Amino acid sequence: MTEPDPIPDPTIQSRRRVLGKLGGLAAALTIPTALARQNSNLGSSGRIPAQSVKRNPVTQYPKPPFPKQTQPWPGLASKMVPRPDHGETSYQGTGRLVGRKALITGGDSGIGRAVAIAYAREGADVAINYLPAEESDAREVIALIRAAGRKAVAIPGDLRSEAFCQELVARAVRELGGLDILVSNAARQHQVPSIEDLTTELFDWTMKTNLYAMFWITKAAMPHFQPGASIIVTASEQAYDPSPNLLDYAQTKAAQVAFTKLLSKQVIHKGIRVNAVAPGPIWTPLQPSGGQDPNKLPQFGANTPIMRPGQPAELAAAYVTLASQESSYATGQVYGVNGGNAQP
Ligand code: NAD
Ligand code: MG
Repeated sequence: MTEPDPIPDPTIQSRRRVLGKLGGLAAALTIPTALARQNSNLGSSGRIPAQSVKRNPVTQYPKPPFPKQTQPWPGLASKMVPRPDHGETSYQGTGRLVGRKALITGGDSGIGRAVAIAYAREGADVAINYLPAEESDAREVIALIRAAGRKAVAIPGDLRSEAFCQELVARAVRELGGLDILVSNAARQHQVPSIEDLTTELFDWTMKTNLYAMFWITKAAMPHFQPGASIIVTASEQAYDPSPNLLDYAQTKAAQVAFTKLLSKQVIHKGIRVNAVAPGPIWTPLQPSGGQDPNKLPQFGANTPIMRPGQPAELAAAYVTLASQESSYATGQVYGVNGGNAQP
């Protein structure tokens, strides 16, 4: 195959300084320079975009069994073994979101972090929201966005408060100078095997985080969107193939799909698109911090056709594609990234 000429990236040096501090699994994915040099179609930088290199997806990333591990909620990416790959050393942008301004909830870790890195390297300024307990993860993301030469805005706070959700949007708009992309990604997942043990407090916590916050933030953001804006919701395959221990969570994911399909019809006349991504099992802190039965975590992702969980980095392309103008005819869609489990 022919690799495209990579766009020269003036931020590579500062990015390398940040990456040097991060290390981890992702480092294994750096493209060998010898391979890069062999290719006569490369530009002067001699770098093949990582996403252009052909690999076997089955063996590309760690597979079960994983070490047994738990973390207090909300969990940190930095404490996971192995460390998730959010694209820190691999994602190379091609200018698909130049000048866009994005707000990503749960942007400190997991899928949200992978999206933040990709958006910044595609040319967007990025604001991230997270919980104060996740400050150390968030600091890493802020450094990576800045290393990509883009503006980074850190807005910690608890999304279960309507007043905070409104303040979050107001601050993002003020500090970014507008808003073009909203990624509603933060979520609470707490496994409870029996309905009899699912308390009203836990049920309410999940509903507030996954549904009310999405509603409050989207509503507050709506007056700021111009034609060409894009809303992307992180739903889940739990929306249509729910696990028995996620009664409250799976309902919110199904509701998010309905929200996406409905809102897309309501706002397309304003030139605003609304889509969702439905991931399968992804290696993120949400799982060892209460989202998953700790005894089952070592086999996480084993029962997918690909026989392993996804890494956050494997989700980024879907969010870039849906946000970019290339997807101008896609609205009300659900993009599955799940290692082979069929969608409904
Ligand atoms: P993650 O733990 O890295 O991200 C979830 C984030 O939600 C946290 O980082 C936290 O900042 C945020 N959050 C939770 N409660 C909050 C609150 N009250 N206020 C503010 N922020 C809060 O895990 P992830 O897996 O990357 O999760 C991102 C999205 O992906 C979620 O919507 C989740 O439902 C979805 N998802 C995950 C999987 C998976 O297997 N990991 C599968 C399908 C869908
Ligand atoms: Mg987090």
